[in-house]
Amino acid sequence: MNNMYISPDYEVIRNMSRCITCRVCERQCANEVHSFDPDGNVMISDESKCVNCKRCVSLCPTHALKIVKNEDTLRENANWQDATIKEIYKQANSGGVLLSSMGNPKPLPVYWDKILINASQVTNPPIDPLREPMETRVFLGKKPDHIERDENGKIKTDLAPQLELSVPIMFSAMSYGSISYNAHKSLATAAKELGIYYNTGEGGLHEDFYVYGENTIVQVASGRFGVHEDYLNAGAAIEIKMGQGAKPGIGGHLPGAKIVGDVSKTRMIPEGSDAISPAPHHDIYSIEDLRQLVFSLKEASQYKKPVIVKVAAVHNIAAIASGIARSGADIIAIDGFRGGTGAAPTRIRDNVGIPIELALASVDQRLREEGIRNNVSLVVGGSIRSAADVVKAIALGADACYIATAAVLALGCHLCRTCQTGKCNWGIATQRPELVKRLNPEIGSQRLVNLITAWKHEIKELMGGMGINSIEALRGNRLMLRGVGLTGKELEILGISHAGE
Ligand code: SF4
Ligand code: SF4
Repeated sequence: MNNMYISPDYEVIRNMSRCITCRVCERQCANEVHSFDPDGNVMISDESKCVNCKRCVSLCPTHALKIVKNEDTLRENANWQDATIKEIYKQANSGGVLLSSMGNPKPLPVYWDKILINASQVTNPPIDPLREPMETRVFLGKKPDHIERDENGKIKTDLAPQLELSVPIMFSAMSYGSISYNAHKSLATAAKELGIYYNTGEGGLHEDFYVYGENTIVQVASGRFGVHEDYLNAGAAIEIKMGQGAKPGIGGHLPGAKIVGDVSKTRMIPEGSDAISPAPHHDIYSIEDLRQLVFSLKEASQYKKPVIVKVAAVHNIAAIASGIARSGADIIAIDGFRGGTGAAPTRIRDNVGIPIELALASVDQRLREEGIRNNVSLVVGGSIRSAADVVKAIALGADACYIATAAVLALGCHLCRTCQTGKCNWGIATQRPELVKRLNPEIGSQRLVNLITAWKHEIKELMGGMGINSIEALRGNRLMLRGVGLTGKELEILGISHAGE
């Protein structure tokens, strides 16, 4: 059967008066878009392969290249838009499930942008963060309802193990395999320098990264790849991954072609075999089962490490979180529907889950109503894009935020959303050695440190403006937030008033 021609999404525009046929673009594009035509002594392009990652544009020494959206459109139709029709052609051509990566790009509401932050005026004056001490440190883990001291004032109460963060931000799970060695190294070294944590994801821990254990969260997912006693004891905390915002309800799949060399060794599976994480953990069908795994992991790590349970934000997230808070977990991580991924079925990524803002507000509210909010800390992720999003999340009830897309953007990602191909031209979502070396881990680490340092300054400025000098005083302080353009129901779920009230 003939394949239907699908016009390219992008057009490569080459300014021939600037092009010096140096062939940099040809060498830089792993998608093989550019080639040299010796007959005409010109560079030519196969734009059907272009994913608009901007690598060639950035490195062209004469700025001769531009990638633009292809204006060759089908007849206008508000219901059957170009992208929808192209997807049907692709599926009719291939018979396969469409795959994508990174987060949901659909124009669904971003509640962070409909929430505004308060500032002090006249009474209760603002605090100048340059002159006054501002506390951005947070501790994650189960908190006691009260503290007992002995006659010398020393704390007698047994405290559960805690994670200490210099700023309420951590790098979210990205496995070695889905991202490169150099990307992992950048995250690990930046986390250490910043006094925060990065997360192994479900790919195990490369032997070179055990030295960063104090700043590492080791993950246990349904596939149990790379999980063994030393691994569990290597990290500062253990995360059980029950779900992920980009693909709630389904497992993971790293194709055999990416299971090579160290990735295969770290995951403890043979080279070339597909790494398939099943949708469920086959030993967890209830909160009691989850509790058994939580305590097995605590036992295996001598009760010295907090256990995190990570779930995707779904419809009944408040009830799910209430169960997790009773399972013995120390921290609940909730991942919203805009969360990134190295690969996900497009339909799942774009249609399943709920926004993190609504999930967070309803979980915090439910745990407070049930009197169990201190049993757990809440960490939220799924498109935290700036210091303002972090401040809004803390005021809505989070203890800290996970970031991943923002972190890979700092490493050079241009959000072309084709990580699943393994041809990342920026050396991040790839295992091809010639691409991996494009990301210098020292520069990558410095860029991550710069990003979080800048956000820390901004968090202090926003807190100072509100007259608040510690993250602890901001947590769950919804009076500091107002909604704009939201319905009564949305405001009710978020637990905030409308602007002007
Ligand atoms: S895929 Fe990237 S490097 Fe290749 S032509 Fe397109 S923008 Fe340039
Ligand atoms: S990590 Fe690489 S492949 Fe993935 S979206 Fe970013 S630039 Fe594209």
